[in-house]
Amino acid sequence: MSEALVDHAEPKVTASKSEARYVLSGTDLRKTYRLGRIDVPVLKGASLHVKAGEWVAVLGPSGCGKSTLLHVLGDLDQADPDGGTVAFDGRQLSQMSLAQRNWYRNRRIGFVFQFYHLLPELNIVDNVLLPGYVAASRWPRWSTFVMWTIAALTGVLGMTGGVVGLWLARDAFSWWLLVLRGGLIAVGVMASAGVFAALWAVAFTEVRSLVYRLRPRYRRMRGFAADLLNSFGLGHRLQHRPRELSGGERQRVAIARALMNQPKILLADEPTGNLDEKTGEEILELIAEQHRRGLTIVMVTHDPAIARRADRLVRLHDGRIEETA
Ligand code: ADP
Ligand code: MG
Repeated sequence: MSEALVDHAEPKVTASKSEARYVLSGTDLRKTYRLGRIDVPVLKGASLHVKAGEWVAVLGPSGCGKSTLLHVLGDLDQADPDGGTVAFDGRQLSQMSLAQRNWYRNRRIGFVFQFYHLLPELNIVDNVLLPGYVAASRWPRWSTFVMWTIAALTGVLGMTGGVVGLWLARDAFSWWLLVLRGGLIAVGVMASAGVFAALWAVAFTEVRSLVYRLRPRYRRMRGFAADLLNSFGLGHRLQHRPRELSGGERQRVAIARALMNQPKILLADEPTGNLDEKTGEEILELIAEQHRRGLTIVMVTHDPAIARRADRLVRLHDGRIEETA
């Protein structure tokens, strides 16, 4: 299971010395929501520094900004302009290119939400595979170029054929009729050209996904997803859709999805908030097991009993992080 599934070509961004000691570092984060003309400051200079392998819990009452903080740390949302920095392995996200930030979000972070956020139309293996698809979906640019060129050529060909046909049949019409009907026919011809182009696009996409499924890397990824679900006790449910599962089972799937690309950091937003106590305990045990294997975890919760499971507990109070003894 430890075999690398995706090539981790790390972007080169120089690390600042103070941030390099931490795997994840939020410094002086400020975030204000704008509701019409009213400013709602939520983060007011929150700083959280997380060491590799640590399990940190952020405790705070509902509405204090825990989800906001986690989203900013995971680059699902951004702090205010000049509202502090987030750094991964000493590299500031704001210094990274778009591609590097996508890499951070897709390969380095695993996100677990309170309400699972699984896709209802996919079975659970495909749900878990989704981040893998994103990581492995780098098709050469020319393939898209070829697809659109063929689609456009087919369209032009269809249209030319129609016009030439009209021209050849011109004697069958009187000229004024040709002009009158010609307008209608031209619309028809263009529509059929559009249909041709669309058919090509669909056919090409199908062929591409077929080729994709035949690649060894895809089979490896699928095997990895199935192994993860197996190890979470869901091996007999692989073909099920999320709605056929209980809350606890759905959260297991969501955790498996978060682990799919073997991230360095798990960001968990009230992962047990929607579950009964016993099921919540099972989910925490699952997270604890990942922590024992070396995963760094930042978990936010409003529940002190849950927060106590972490190595280190901090509070989010009035938009800032307060260390607790
Ligand atoms: P928590 O996760 O601790 O319950 P949140 O981070 O979800 O808190 O929200 C903190 C505050 O920011 C709340 O008052 C919430 O209403 C507000 N808030 C959150 N998201 C938005 C948004 N997209 N637009 C406006 N206000 C928001
Ligand atoms: Mg929240």
